[in-house]
Amino acid sequence: MSPSRKSSFIDPFQPREIRRLVGEFGSPLLIVDCERVRRQYRELRRALPGVDLHYALKPLPHPAVVRAVLEEGGFLDLATTGEVELVARMGVDPDLCIHTHPIKRDSDIRDALKRGVKVFVADNPDELRKFVPYAQTAEVLLRVSFRSPGAVSDLSRKFGCDPESLLALARRARDLGVKVRGLSFHVGSQAPDPGKHVEAIEACARLLSAARRERLGPCDTLDIGGGFPIDYASSAPSIGYFCKPIRAALAKLPKRVRIIAEPGRYIAGPSAIGVASVMGRARREGRWWYYLDDGLYGSYSGQLFDHARYPLESLKTGKHREPAVLAGPTCDSIDVITENILLPELDSGDLIVGRAMGAYTWASASEFNFFPRATVVSVNLTPGDRGSVMRLDH
Ligand SMILES: *Cc1c(COP(=O)(O)O)cnc(C)c1O
Repeated sequence: MSPSRKSSFIDPFQPREIRRLVGEFGSPLLIVDCERVRRQYRELRRALPGVDLHYALKPLPHPAVVRAVLEEGGFLDLATTGEVELVARMGVDPDLCIHTHPIKRDSDIRDALKRGVKVFVADNPDELRKFVPYAQTAEVLLRVSFRSPGAVSDLSRKFGCDPESLLALARRARDLGVKVRGLSFHVGSQAPDPGKHVEAIEACARLLSAARRERLGPCDTLDIGGGFPIDYASSAPSIGYFCKPIRAALAKLPKRVRIIAEPGRYIAGPSAIGVASVMGRARREGRWWYYLDDGLYGSYSGQLFDHARYPLESLKTGKHREPAVLAGPTCDSIDVITENILLPELDSGDLIVGRAMGAYTWASASEFNFFPRATVVSVNLTPGDRGSVMRLDH
C-alpha cells in the first residue's frame, strides 16, 4: 500500500473523524466501518474453519456490508424479496445466496427463483406443498426447532419443526418430489453460551444420517444459523472461545456434509456506531435532560426490539460529570434512551456516540413524528481504497 493511501485510511470511530463525518453528512449518523466488517468476518472464519458464512442481511441490509462480505469470499442469507432485490441490483451471483424465511408467499418463492436463488427453508407440510410447482429447480433445508428459553430472542418458538417430527416431514417432502438439501436451525440471537448450538448439531447429525439411510434426499448440508454474541454494555465471550465446543461437535460430522452458518449480528453489530446530536436540554428535578435527534423510534429501536444496551459516551470530555437523562426527539414519553448516565454538561450540538450499533438498530428504525432515520455512511469501502465514503440514500 502506498504511503498516501495509508494516510487516507479512516479510523471512523476517532472523535476527530466522527466530528468530520457529522460536519459533512449531518446528524444523526450511522457510521459503518467496512474494515471492521472484514475483521469480524475473518474472526468468525477463524473460529469456524470450513464453515461457509452466509451473512444474514436482516440486522443491517446495507450494500457496503454485503460487498465487504463478498470480497472476503463470503455468502449471503436472504429472507425477503426486498433483500433479494438489493443483492440482485448489486449483481451478486445468486448461487452465493440462500433464502431462509420459513414462511413464504408464492410470490416470495417466485421472485427469488427468478433471480436465481434456489435454496429455501421450510418447516411444515403446508410450506413444502408450495414447492411442488418448482420442484425441478428449488430445494429445501428443513428447519428444526431447539427451544432456548435463555436466549434474548428465542427464534425456535416462532419457527421450526420438532426434532421428533423431522423424519416424517422429510418423508412428506420425498412424497411431494421436493428435494431436501439438508437441515437448518437458529438457536436464537446473542446466544448466552454455545450449549444450544452443540445440542442442535448433535441432534441434526443423527437426523441427517437417518434421513440419508431412508434416501429422503441428498441431505448433505447442515446450516447452524446465527446467534454468535458480541459485546454490548456487558461483554460476551471471545468468538474463538465461544465456538470451541461448536468446532468439536462439527468435527464429528461426516466429511461430505457441507456446513454453513448465517451470522448477522456478529458481522454487523460491532462494525457501526450511532452518532446523535443534542437538540436541546432542560433541567428537570435536579438533572439535565438532553434531547437527542435519534432515539427509541430511530436507531435506538434495538433497545426495545432487540433488548440491547449500547455503550454510550459523550464526545465532549470534562472532569465534572453528573447523572443525566438522554431522551429521543419524538413527543412520546417512552422515547427515553437512558435515565442514568454520567455526563459532562452538554449543550445543543454536542455529540453522543453509541457503540456496537450496527445490528438491529437502523434496520428497525421508523420515521415516527417525521424524524428522519439516521443517514448511513460507510467508510473504508474496500481494502485497496480505504479513504472513500458512501452514503446510503432512501
Ligand atoms: C435473524 C436471522 C439470522 C441472523 O441471526 P444473528 O443472531 O443476528 O446472527 C440468521 N438466520 C435467520 C434465519 C434469521 O432469521
